[in-house]
Amino acid sequence: MKFESTLIEQLRQAQRIVFFTGAGVSQESGIPTFRDGPSSIWQHFDPEIYATVLGFDNNPSKVWEWYWDRRQAFKALEPNAAHHVIAAWQEKAENVTVITQNIDGFHQRAGNQSVIELHGSLAMDKCRVHGHYSKHDVNSTSRTQPSCAECGSLLRPDVVWFGEALPDEAYDQAEIACFNCEVFICIGCSMDVYPAADLPYNASASGAYLIQVNPNPTDLDEMADCNLQGNAGVVMPALWQAVWGNTY
Ligand code: NAD
Repeated sequence: MKFESTLIEQLRQAQRIVFFTGAGVSQESGIPTFRDGPSSIWQHFDPEIYATVLGFDNNPSKVWEWYWDRRQAFKALEPNAAHHVIAAWQEKAENVTVITQNIDGFHQRAGNQSVIELHGSLAMDKCRVHGHYSKHDVNSTSRTQPSCAECGSLLRPDVVWFGEALPDEAYDQAEIACFNCEVFICIGCSMDVYPAADLPYNASASGAYLIQVNPNPTDLDEMADCNLQGNAGVVMPALWQAVWGNTY
């Protein structure tokens, strides 16, 4: 792959970098995205049922089991080259922040540090009534929906559903990183999900050099200083090689 010299220079010099990721960064690990293409999740499952509080209340066990199956499936998959390149970048530059909309935990599994999770995580559960948090037991072999140890109400995965607010602390941390970074790299985001999709615009308005990695066009194309069209697992190792002259 060929990259512009301005892009290479920006990345070589930058010490404050934000990697902002969406479902696309995990696509090559085998996790379908939500909305692009025939294999995407919402082509096959109704988000009203599986990603709203109302859907959960109508049929809690159905929703719990759907997520249980996803959790089991994710266990058999691995982070890909894009997640690993981000880990290498955290070793290389002074201040590299990872902000993700993903709930799969693949950044952490690839060794990414201090990941800001805007939409929660499948690693945790919380109870429906009081929001008591508990770590999800990944080794459980039962699909039966558990109850909260503190109050007895039903557990749900600690992920942000449609109509729910993002966790305040995570969003605040993400905004601060965006306002302070020199380079912002947006990987595999449709830019359809707000308020997360505001972050690249905030970073760019604060003077950051904006890079986008995506095989498909998005609303960010016009604003990005550099659009790298392609799959993250191919583009990111090539970018690392071009900037640092070695493999990650
Ligand atoms: P999305 O499904 O709306 O869009 C995915 C984007 O990734 C698209 O723009 C697509 O062109 C791009 N893409 C597809 N394959 C790619 C690849 N190999 N490399 C780079 N880009 C690729 O996802 P979104 O924008 O993240 O927003 C939807 C919501 O979906 C988020 O809230 C996220 O939490 C959730 N989600 C998470 C996972 C996960 O945890 N892995 C999976 C599906 C959806």
